[in-house]
Amino acid sequence: MYTYYISVGSNIGDKRGYINSAFESLQEYETVSEVISSSLIETEPWGYTDQASFINGIWSCKSTLAPLQMLGLLQSLEQRAGRERLIHWGPRTLDLDIILAFDEDKTIISVCNKRLTIPHPYFWDRIFVLEPLSELLPTFTYKGTTIGERLAHLSLL
Ligand code: ATP
Ligand code: MG
Ligand code: MG
Repeated sequence: MYTYYISVGSNIGDKRGYINSAFESLQEYETVSEVISSSLIETEPWGYTDQASFINGIWSCKSTLAPLQMLGLLQSLEQRAGRERLIHWGPRTLDLDIILAFDEDKTIISVCNKRLTIPHPYFWDRIFVLEPLSELLPTFTYKGTTIGERLAHLSLL
């Protein structure tokens, strides 16, 4: 059994609607349990800034699916929301990224291949990920820094 932390984002149309219906769909999979959502927050775009504001949050869940299978499941939820990939980091109805995965022993899982990198390569630089993540994992520490310290550091930049 794995524990996943998934970043969710939307900045087109009924943003909360896309996020909430995908949340309900995720709960319907037999291979997925204990689905929890952080608060959803409104954030300014990151990377490609000439686009509408985002609604972002973090979901956690438990699953028997291995990381690549979980990526496939999340991509099918993105497709159901009509996700199109036109501009890198551009506008999207729904983005679901695997941020962190832990195994039964609560050991952090690392994956790095063509389709999947976890921990997510930019998660530690993104306030829109760390703020909701800190709600679900308030004592999380990465490379010797607590999530609270990291958020304080990023907010000062
Ligand atoms: P970013 O990953 O920087 O947030 P993005 O979410 O806009 O950018 P996408 O277009 O959603 O990028 O995904 C591009 C590819 O990233 C996907 O096809 C997937 O194979 C790959 N990918 C690699 N690592 C991850 C991950 N941890 N979670 C989700 N997708 C990943
Ligand atoms: Mg993303
Ligand atoms: Mg993505």
